[in-house]
Amino acid sequence: MSEVVDALLSEALDLERHSIFQVSTSSALVKGVFGGTATVGNLRRHGDFGLGTFAELDGEMILIDGQCFRATAGGALSVAGPDREVPFAVVTRFSPDISGGIRASVDLGALTERIDEMRPSQNLFVGIRIDGRFEEVIMRAICRAFPGESLVDATEHQSEFTVESIEGTLVGFWSPDYTRSVSVPGYHLHFISTDRTVGGHVLGLRARALSVRLQTESDLHLALPETVEFLTADLAGDHREELDKAETRPSKS
Ligand SMILES: [Zn+2]
Repeated sequence: MSEVVDALLSEALDLERHSIFQVSTSSALVKGVFGGTATVGNLRRHGDFGLGTFAELDGEMILIDGQCFRATAGGALSVAGPDREVPFAVVTRFSPDISGGIRASVDLGALTERIDEMRPSQNLFVGIRIDGRFEEVIMRAICRAFPGESLVDATEHQSEFTVESIEGTLVGFWSPDYTRSVSVPGYHLHFISTDRTVGGHVLGLRARALSVRLQTESDLHLALPETVEFLTADLAGDHREELDKAETRPSKS
């Protein structure tokens, strides 16, 4: 009997090790569904690692080693308490199954190309943790949206900043192209410094020596909001361009 229980438990744990828990969808975010539908406390029951944003787009979320942080203008970092509300987040229990090192000098494009070579498939999600010393990290922190604003409009007044010569960690995910209305397709990375003083959503970087750990994720749990805002949003159609504009391109350059 106990062997059966053990087997079931380890099966459940193994599933959990390869599970992503996501709140809301990227399309809902593009369409301005920014109201909180989960709390940091809820998220921490489903993972110790991940990223997201806060209600009304009030900062960037970084969950690392079970601790949740909020980055605001200029990358200023504070601890996000368990009651703080979240409209969109992706978390997992980080337990890497692939690891490697990068010694050459890389920018964000070269780094993602290296991770492309390490990923086993174009069709599974991947959790990504990269630790090391960064020569430069270009970031943004989204700032509280005005009522009725879209994601793209909100990114027009985001805070953009660069930190140099800093030790830290990239926390994020790669998501398959076929999940584009649910996830942010491709790479989505946030940065947090080792001393926990600065962080944000990564727009660019330069680094030389990095340790890369990847976790393949084959089980997606999607928690859809039941708020009026979400229930009545028009989420049909393709939001690729808006999402790309909001998540990857610096607004001022
Ligand atoms: Zn982000």
